[in-house]
Amino acid sequence: MADLKLIDPYNRHLNYLRISITDRCNLKCIYCVPRHLIPRLSHDEILTYEEILRLVRIGVRLGISKIRVTGGEPLVRKGVYGFLTDLSGLDGLVDLSLTTNGVTLKDNLNKIKTAGIKRINISLDTLNPKKFERITGFDLFDQVWQGIEMALSLGFHPIKLNIVALNGINDDELADMAHLSFDYPLHIRFIEYMPIGESQIGNAPLLLAPEIKKRISVLGKLIPVAKTMNDGPAQRYHFEGAAGEIGFIHALSHHFCDRCNRLRLTARGQLRPCLLSDHHEDVRGIMRSGGTDEQLAEVFFRAVRHKPSDHNLAIQNPSGVCGQMSSIGG
Ligand code: SAM
Repeated sequence: MADLKLIDPYNRHLNYLRISITDRCNLKCIYCVPRHLIPRLSHDEILTYEEILRLVRIGVRLGISKIRVTGGEPLVRKGVYGFLTDLSGLDGLVDLSLTTNGVTLKDNLNKIKTAGIKRINISLDTLNPKKFERITGFDLFDQVWQGIEMALSLGFHPIKLNIVALNGINDDELADMAHLSFDYPLHIRFIEYMPIGESQIGNAPLLLAPEIKKRISVLGKLIPVAKTMNDGPAQRYHFEGAAGEIGFIHALSHHFCDRCNRLRLTARGQLRPCLLSDHHEDVRGIMRSGGTDEQLAEVFFRAVRHKPSDHNLAIQNPSGVCGQMSSIGG
Protein backbone atom coordinates (compact mmCIF):
# COMPACT_ATOMS: atom_id res chain seq x y z
CA MET A 1 0.00 0.00 0.00
CA ALA A 2 2.95 2.31 0.74
CA ASP A 3 3.64 3.28 -2.88
CA LEU A 4 0.06 3.72 -3.95
CA LYS A 5 -1.21 7.25 -4.20
CA LEU A 6 -4.68 8.67 -4.59
CA ILE A 7 -4.65 9.80 -8.21
CA ASP A 8 -8.00 10.15 -9.96
CA PRO A 9 -8.86 9.36 -13.59
CA TYR A 10 -8.12 12.99 -14.51
CA ASN A 11 -4.64 12.80 -13.00
CA ARG A 12 -5.44 14.95 -9.99
CA HIS A 13 -3.45 13.98 -6.89
CA LEU A 14 -5.82 13.93 -3.94
CA ASN A 15 -3.89 14.84 -0.81
CA TYR A 16 -6.49 16.84 1.11
CA LEU A 17 -9.11 15.27 3.36
CA ARG A 18 -11.89 17.32 4.93
CA ILE A 19 -13.41 15.58 7.90
CA SER A 20 -16.83 16.44 9.27
CA ILE A 21 -16.78 15.14 12.82
CA THR A 22 -20.43 15.90 13.61
CA ASP A 23 -23.57 16.88 11.78
CA ARG A 24 -24.79 18.88 14.78
CA CYS A 25 -24.45 22.62 14.96
CA ASN A 26 -25.16 25.34 17.49
CA LEU A 27 -26.31 27.70 14.70
CA LYS A 28 -28.99 27.29 12.07
CA CYS A 29 -27.73 29.32 9.12
CA ILE A 30 -30.42 29.91 6.53
CA TYR A 31 -28.18 29.01 3.58
CA CYS A 32 -26.81 25.82 5.12
CA VAL A 33 -29.75 23.79 6.34
CA PRO A 34 -33.50 24.36 6.55
CA ARG A 35 -34.74 24.23 10.10
CA HIS A 36 -36.98 21.19 9.50
CA LEU A 37 -34.01 19.22 8.21
CA ILE A 38 -31.67 19.84 11.11
CA PRO A 39 -29.79 16.58 11.37
CA ARG A 40 -29.81 14.40 14.39
CA LEU A 41 -27.55 11.44 13.78
CA SER A 42 -27.41 9.25 16.84
CA HIS A 43 -24.20 8.65 18.74
CA ASP A 44 -23.86 5.18 17.17
CA GLU A 45 -24.33 6.48 13.66
CA ILE A 46 -21.35 8.82 13.69
CA LEU A 47 -17.77 7.65 13.43
CA THR A 48 -15.92 7.43 16.71
CA TYR A 49 -12.70 9.39 17.03
CA GLU A 50 -10.76 6.10 16.98
CA GLU A 51 -12.44 5.18 13.69
CA ILE A 52 -11.61 8.58 12.18
CA LEU A 53 -7.98 8.34 13.31
CA ARG A 54 -7.68 4.88 11.80
CA LEU A 55 -8.99 6.20 8.47
CA VAL A 56 -6.64 9.16 8.62
CA ARG A 57 -3.66 6.85 9.20
CA ILE A 58 -4.68 4.84 6.15
CA GLY A 59 -5.23 8.05 4.16
CA VAL A 60 -1.80 9.37 5.13
CA ARG A 61 -0.19 6.16 3.84
CA LEU A 62 -2.00 6.82 0.55
CA GLY A 63 -0.70 10.39 0.29
CA ILE A 64 -3.12 12.51 2.35
CA SER A 65 -1.02 15.27 3.91
CA LYS A 66 -3.54 18.00 4.56
CA ILE A 67 -6.59 17.81 6.82
CA ARG A 68 -9.35 20.22 7.71
CA VAL A 69 -11.71 19.41 10.56
CA THR A 70 -15.24 20.72 10.05
CA GLY A 71 -18.87 19.87 10.81
CA GLY A 72 -21.75 20.63 11.60
CA GLU A 73 -19.93 22.63 14.21
CA PRO A 74 -16.81 20.67 15.14
CA LEU A 75 -16.35 22.41 18.48
CA VAL A 76 -19.67 21.14 19.83
CA ARG A 77 -18.58 17.50 19.73
CA LYS A 78 -17.51 16.16 23.11
CA GLY A 79 -13.83 15.25 23.30
CA VAL A 80 -12.90 17.36 20.26
CA TYR A 81 -9.76 18.87 21.83
CA GLY A 82 -8.31 15.47 22.67
CA PHE A 83 -9.13 14.33 19.14
CA LEU A 84 -7.39 17.36 17.60
CA THR A 85 -4.34 16.64 19.75
CA ASP A 86 -4.26 13.01 18.58
CA LEU A 87 -4.72 14.10 14.98
CA SER A 88 -1.92 16.64 15.08
CA GLY A 89 0.36 14.00 16.60
CA LEU A 90 0.03 11.71 13.56
CA ASP A 91 3.12 11.37 11.40
CA GLY A 92 2.83 12.50 7.81
CA LEU A 93 0.40 15.40 8.12
CA VAL A 94 1.86 18.71 7.05
CA ASP A 95 -1.23 20.84 7.49
CA LEU A 96 -4.07 20.63 9.98
CA SER A 97 -6.78 23.29 10.15
CA LEU A 98 -10.22 23.88 11.54
CA THR A 99 -13.44 25.47 10.28
CA THR A 100 -15.77 26.82 12.95
CA ASN A 101 -18.63 29.26 13.38
CA GLY A 102 -16.67 30.79 16.26
CA VAL A 103 -19.46 30.60 18.81
CA THR A 104 -17.41 28.73 21.41
CA LEU A 105 -14.02 29.95 20.25
CA LYS A 106 -13.36 32.59 22.89
CA ASP A 107 -13.09 30.17 25.80
CA ASN A 108 -11.37 27.39 23.93
CA LEU A 109 -8.61 29.01 21.91
CA ASN A 110 -5.87 27.92 24.26
CA LYS A 111 -7.03 24.30 23.97
CA ILE A 112 -7.11 24.62 20.19
CA LYS A 113 -3.61 26.06 20.20
CA THR A 114 -2.28 23.41 22.56
CA ALA A 115 -3.84 20.76 20.32
CA GLY A 116 -1.57 21.94 17.51
CA ILE A 117 -3.98 23.90 15.29
CA LYS A 118 -2.45 27.02 13.77
CA ARG A 119 -4.93 27.87 11.05
CA ILE A 120 -8.60 28.59 11.64
CA ASN A 121 -11.42 29.50 9.27
CA ILE A 122 -14.29 31.29 10.95
CA SER A 123 -17.66 31.78 9.30
CA LEU A 124 -19.06 35.28 9.67
CA ASP A 125 -21.55 36.55 7.11
CA THR A 126 -22.33 39.97 8.54
CA LEU A 127 -21.04 42.70 10.84
CA ASN A 128 -24.54 43.59 11.95
CA PRO A 129 -25.67 41.79 15.14
CA LYS A 130 -29.36 41.89 14.17
CA LYS A 131 -28.61 40.43 10.76
CA PHE A 132 -26.37 37.83 12.36
CA GLU A 133 -29.40 36.70 14.31
CA ARG A 134 -31.53 36.65 11.16
CA ILE A 135 -28.96 34.52 9.30
CA THR A 136 -28.00 32.14 12.10
CA GLY A 137 -31.07 32.12 14.33
CA PHE A 138 -29.05 33.26 17.37
CA ASP A 139 -28.03 36.56 18.94
CA LEU A 140 -24.35 35.68 19.21
CA PHE A 141 -22.51 38.17 17.02
CA ASP A 142 -20.57 39.74 19.90
CA GLN A 143 -19.43 36.36 21.17
CA VAL A 144 -18.10 35.37 17.73
CA TRP A 145 -16.40 38.72 17.22
CA GLN A 146 -14.67 38.44 20.62
CA GLY A 147 -13.45 34.99 19.57
CA ILE A 148 -11.99 36.45 16.36
CA GLU A 149 -10.19 39.23 18.22
CA MET A 150 -8.82 36.81 20.76
CA ALA A 151 -7.65 34.40 18.05
CA LEU A 152 -5.77 37.31 16.44
CA SER A 153 -4.16 38.25 19.74
CA LEU A 154 -3.06 34.64 20.32
CA GLY A 155 -1.24 34.64 16.99
CA PHE A 156 -3.31 32.20 14.93
CA HIS A 157 -2.35 32.80 11.31
CA PRO A 158 -3.87 33.02 8.88
CA ILE A 159 -7.37 33.50 10.23
CA LYS A 160 -9.78 33.32 7.33
CA LEU A 161 -13.25 34.82 7.62
CA ASN A 162 -15.68 32.89 5.43
CA ILE A 163 -18.51 35.04 4.13
CA VAL A 164 -21.23 33.47 2.02
CA ALA A 165 -22.40 36.28 -0.26
CA LEU A 166 -26.16 36.43 -0.40
CA ASN A 167 -28.27 38.78 -2.48
CA GLY A 168 -30.80 40.68 -0.40
CA ILE A 169 -29.16 39.57 2.85
CA ASN A 170 -25.56 40.75 3.16
CA ASP A 171 -24.93 42.24 -0.29
CA ASP A 172 -25.08 45.75 1.22
CA GLU A 173 -22.13 44.95 3.51
CA LEU A 174 -19.57 43.51 1.15
CA ALA A 175 -17.36 46.60 1.14
CA ASP A 176 -17.56 46.88 4.96
CA MET A 177 -16.47 43.29 5.32
CA ALA A 178 -13.67 43.73 2.81
CA HIS A 179 -12.60 46.83 4.73
CA LEU A 180 -11.74 44.64 7.73
CA SER A 181 -8.64 43.62 5.79
CA PHE A 182 -7.26 47.16 6.24
CA ASP A 183 -7.47 47.02 10.01
CA TYR A 184 -6.77 43.36 10.77
CA PRO A 185 -4.44 40.75 9.26
CA LEU A 186 -7.52 38.70 8.38
CA HIS A 187 -8.06 36.85 5.12
CA ILE A 188 -11.57 37.89 4.09
CA ARG A 189 -12.99 35.21 1.82
CA PHE A 190 -16.13 35.74 -0.18
CA ILE A 191 -17.80 32.44 -0.99
CA GLU A 192 -20.38 32.07 -3.72
CA TYR A 193 -23.55 30.54 -2.34
CA MET A 194 -23.83 26.97 -3.59
CA PRO A 195 -27.40 25.84 -4.19
CA ILE A 196 -27.08 22.35 -2.77
CA GLY A 197 -29.64 20.41 -0.78
CA GLU A 198 -32.56 22.35 0.62
CA SER A 199 -32.10 25.83 2.02
CA GLN A 200 -34.20 28.84 2.91
CA ILE A 201 -32.55 31.14 0.42
CA GLY A 202 -35.26 30.93 -2.19
CA ASN A 203 -34.73 31.99 -5.77
CA ALA A 204 -32.86 35.28 -5.37
CA PRO A 205 -30.30 35.63 -8.17
CA LEU A 206 -26.89 34.35 -7.13
CA LEU A 207 -24.26 36.88 -6.13
CA LEU A 208 -21.13 35.82 -7.97
CA ALA A 209 -17.47 36.73 -7.57
CA PRO A 210 -17.24 39.22 -10.49
CA GLU A 211 -20.08 41.27 -8.98
CA ILE A 212 -18.59 41.04 -5.46
CA LYS A 213 -15.25 42.25 -6.83
CA LYS A 214 -16.95 45.15 -8.54
CA ARG A 215 -18.72 46.19 -5.36
CA ILE A 216 -15.67 46.06 -3.11
CA SER A 217 -13.45 47.82 -5.62
CA VAL A 218 -14.81 51.12 -4.21
CA LEU A 219 -12.13 50.53 -1.54
CA GLY A 220 -9.25 50.56 -4.00
CA LYS A 221 -7.46 48.41 -6.55
CA LEU A 222 -7.36 44.69 -5.84
CA ILE A 223 -3.75 43.59 -6.23
CA PRO A 224 -3.24 39.85 -6.93
CA VAL A 225 -1.25 37.94 -4.30
CA ALA A 226 1.49 35.67 -5.67
CA LYS A 227 0.44 32.03 -5.57
CA THR A 228 2.17 29.63 -3.20
CA MET A 229 2.41 25.84 -3.32
CA ASN A 230 -0.16 25.26 -0.60
CA ASP A 231 -2.75 27.64 -2.01
CA GLY A 232 -6.32 26.43 -2.01
CA PRO A 233 -8.85 27.36 -4.68
CA ALA A 234 -9.30 30.98 -3.54
CA GLN A 235 -8.28 33.76 -5.90
CA ARG A 236 -6.24 35.96 -3.59
CA TYR A 237 -5.81 39.75 -3.58
CA HIS A 238 -4.93 42.57 -1.25
CA PHE A 239 -5.59 46.27 -1.13
CA GLU A 240 -2.63 48.62 -1.12
CA GLY A 241 -1.52 49.17 2.49
CA ALA A 242 -3.92 46.56 3.93
CA ALA A 243 -2.90 44.27 6.79
CA GLY A 244 -4.92 41.34 5.47
CA GLU A 245 -6.11 39.79 2.22
CA ILE A 246 -9.23 39.30 0.16
CA GLY A 247 -10.11 35.94 -1.39
CA PHE A 248 -12.85 34.68 -3.66
CA ILE A 249 -14.13 31.14 -3.68
CA HIS A 250 -15.89 31.09 -7.02
CA ALA A 251 -17.21 27.56 -7.09
CA LEU A 252 -19.91 28.51 -9.59
CA SER A 253 -18.76 31.43 -11.70
CA HIS A 254 -15.35 29.93 -12.40
CA HIS A 255 -15.11 26.50 -10.92
CA PHE A 256 -11.72 25.15 -9.93
CA CYS A 257 -12.48 21.45 -10.40
CA ASP A 258 -9.41 20.90 -12.59
CA ARG A 259 -7.24 21.64 -9.53
CA CYS A 260 -9.45 19.98 -6.91
CA ASN A 261 -7.34 17.83 -4.58
CA ARG A 262 -10.06 17.02 -2.03
CA LEU A 263 -11.86 14.10 -0.55
CA ARG A 264 -14.45 14.43 2.18
CA LEU A 265 -15.27 12.16 5.07
CA THR A 266 -18.71 12.73 6.57
CA ALA A 267 -19.62 12.22 10.20
CA ARG A 268 -21.64 9.12 9.30
CA GLY A 269 -18.64 7.55 7.63
CA GLN A 270 -19.06 8.22 3.94
CA LEU A 271 -16.16 9.13 1.70
CA ARG A 272 -17.33 11.71 -0.85
CA PRO A 273 -15.12 12.49 -3.83
CA CYS A 274 -16.89 15.77 -4.64
CA LEU A 275 -18.75 18.30 -2.49
CA LEU A 276 -21.18 18.91 -5.30
CA SER A 277 -22.03 15.36 -6.26
CA ASP A 278 -23.97 12.83 -4.23
CA HIS A 279 -21.66 9.90 -4.94
CA HIS A 280 -20.25 8.41 -1.75
CA GLU A 281 -18.57 5.24 -0.52
CA ASP A 282 -19.41 3.74 2.83
CA VAL A 283 -16.45 3.21 5.14
CA ARG A 284 -18.31 2.86 8.42
CA GLY A 285 -20.03 -0.39 7.43
CA ILE A 286 -16.76 -1.94 6.29
CA MET A 287 -14.93 -0.86 9.43
CA ARG A 288 -17.64 -2.10 11.73
CA SER A 289 -17.88 -5.48 10.04
CA GLY A 290 -14.19 -6.15 10.66
CA GLY A 291 -12.75 -4.72 7.43
CA THR A 292 -8.97 -4.68 7.17
CA ASP A 293 -6.83 -1.63 6.46
CA GLU A 294 -6.32 -2.97 2.91
CA GLN A 295 -10.09 -3.16 2.38
CA LEU A 296 -10.49 0.37 3.70
CA ALA A 297 -7.70 1.59 1.44
CA GLU A 298 -9.60 0.04 -1.46
CA VAL A 299 -12.61 2.19 -0.50
CA PHE A 300 -10.40 5.29 -0.73
CA PHE A 301 -9.36 4.20 -4.22
CA ARG A 302 -12.97 3.52 -5.19
CA ALA A 303 -13.99 7.02 -4.08
CA VAL A 304 -11.08 8.47 -6.04
CA ARG A 305 -12.09 6.56 -9.18
CA HIS A 306 -15.53 8.17 -8.90
CA LYS A 307 -14.30 11.73 -8.61
CA PRO A 308 -16.10 13.59 -11.40
CA SER A 309 -14.09 15.74 -13.79
CA ASP A 310 -16.17 18.72 -12.67
CA HIS A 311 -19.35 19.45 -10.80
CA ASN A 312 -22.66 19.96 -12.53
CA LEU A 313 -23.91 23.04 -10.79
CA ALA A 314 -24.39 25.16 -13.87
CA ILE A 315 -25.13 28.76 -13.02
CA GLN A 316 -28.08 29.00 -15.37
CA ASN A 317 -29.72 25.88 -14.08
CA PRO A 318 -28.55 24.80 -10.65
CA SER A 319 -29.41 21.13 -10.61
CA GLY A 320 -28.90 20.78 -6.89
CA VAL A 321 -27.34 18.10 -4.77
CA CYS A 322 -29.39 16.13 -2.25
CA GLY A 323 -26.82 16.11 0.57
CA GLN A 324 -26.91 19.05 2.97
CA MET A 325 -23.84 21.23 3.46
CA SER A 326 -24.29 20.81 7.20
CA SER A 327 -23.70 17.09 6.94
CA ILE A 328 -21.01 17.14 4.25
CA GLY A 329 -18.98 19.83 5.97
CA GLY A 330 -18.52 22.58 3.35
N1 SAM B 1 -19.91 25.09 11.54
C1 SAM B 1 -18.72 25.42 10.84
C2 SAM B 1 -18.81 26.80 10.24
O1 SAM B 1 -19.88 27.42 10.33
O2 SAM B 1 -17.82 27.26 9.69
C3 SAM B 1 -18.25 24.39 9.81
C4 SAM B 1 -19.27 23.78 8.90
S1 SAM B 1 -19.93 24.85 7.67
C5 SAM B 1 -20.96 23.72 6.77
C6 SAM B 1 -18.53 25.07 6.61
C7 SAM B 1 -18.60 26.24 5.64
O3 SAM B 1 -19.59 25.97 4.67
C8 SAM B 1 -18.98 27.57 6.28
O4 SAM B 1 -18.01 28.54 5.98
C9 SAM B 1 -20.30 27.93 5.63
O5 SAM B 1 -20.44 29.30 5.47
C10 SAM B 1 -20.19 27.20 4.30
N2 SAM B 1 -21.49 26.93 3.68
C11 SAM B 1 -22.55 26.31 4.21
N3 SAM B 1 -23.57 26.22 3.32
C12 SAM B 1 -23.12 26.82 2.19
C13 SAM B 1 -23.69 27.04 0.89
N4 SAM B 1 -24.90 26.62 0.59
N5 SAM B 1 -22.92 27.65 -0.04
C14 SAM B 1 -21.67 28.05 0.24
N6 SAM B 1 -21.07 27.86 1.44
C15 SAM B 1 -21.78 27.26 2.40
